[in-house]
Amino acid sequence: MSTDLPTDATALDDIPLLDHHCHGVITSPLERPAFEDLITESDWAAPAGTTHFDTQVGFAIRRYCAPVLGLEPFADPDAYLARRRELGVEASERLLRSSGISDYCIETGHRGDEILDPAGMAAAGAARSHEVVRLERLAEELMLEGCAADGFTAAFGRLLDERLAHAIGVKSIAAYRIGLDFDGARPADAAVVTAVRGWREQIGHGAAVRLDSPVIIRHLLWAAVDRGCAIQFHVGYGDADVDLHRCSPLLLTEFLRRTRESGATIMLLHCYPFHREAGYLAQVFPHVYFDVGLAINYTGARSSEVIAETLELAPFHKIVFSSDAFGVAELYYLGALLFRRGLQQALDVFADRDGWPPEERRRVAELIAWGNARRAYGLDAPAKADGS
Ligand SMILES: [Zn+2]
Repeated sequence: MSTDLPTDATALDDIPLLDHHCHGVITSPLERPAFEDLITESDWAAPAGTTHFDTQVGFAIRRYCAPVLGLEPFADPDAYLARRRELGVEASERLLRSSGISDYCIETGHRGDEILDPAGMAAAGAARSHEVVRLERLAEELMLEGCAADGFTAAFGRLLDERLAHAIGVKSIAAYRIGLDFDGARPADAAVVTAVRGWREQIGHGAAVRLDSPVIIRHLLWAAVDRGCAIQFHVGYGDADVDLHRCSPLLLTEFLRRTRESGATIMLLHCYPFHREAGYLAQVFPHVYFDVGLAINYTGARSSEVIAETLELAPFHKIVFSSDAFGVAELYYLGALLFRRGLQQALDVFADRDGWPPEERRRVAELIAWGNARRAYGLDAPAKADGS
């Protein structure tokens, strides 16, 4: 890890991180507008005369990533990007390999043709990788192949089984497409067939193949529940396509009640600014886990406070790590660095205040860094964690 990290008896920089939700890196050279586009959740360029570098994440990149590329901290953005292009793929490899991430769980459903696939990420990061499949994308693939309404549920079940033979879990973007205030009950088969027929007709009239039917999305979720797999939900903060007021995890309460004894595990992603609500759900529902990925990078110098807030209500065996990085390797590196720093600072405060012993702080950190995700997804322990 970077020498910029604080190192004392409780330093967490040697703990492997299991990044349970992230995407792939774009390895082609990036000019400034393209790079700036990848360090914001906004869909638009910064207003004329301003820059997306003037943000928490922009400052964190200049502070912490510049030295990894051989520059002084707080290098000018143009100098930083010139150095990045000069190094080429090595820039991404340096950042990924300095992150201490042992496992990348890659969601492949978003702009999958532009980013490194799980095998590419494993090679670039010198780490393990695993795949997570996007439910809505699978349904859209079936429609693109011309699947008939009558055969949809059977075909979807087969495709899901096929993909879960390799993938470690699924993700849903119900938050984006229908909001999380959907009916938590399993939809009737006839209603699903009718909804697919309607979707097929819309496509026939020239509509884009974009799934936004609540009935069909609920069917996909229940198909995953039936398979007892780990189901990731986008929750909270995201890009401008999301209606944030419909993304509180509390809106999933009825679905969580109905799935509590199903064998499925629910992974609430991102959660900011609803991470306290997510912590409540993680306490009361045995099958609910959550992270504050994405928000860690975008709150930068304030991320330690956000991480400390996740350690309020939530049991320590229900909090997991993710970077939710997409596109640029800086976001994996910073996600890891800021997470370690925030977790360490929170645990140090508990130690100062209440005398938490070092070995107990270490145990809690390992649960959150990799132990909980390993259990939730049924993975082997990270190689570097063997014997610890
Ligand atoms: Zn994501």
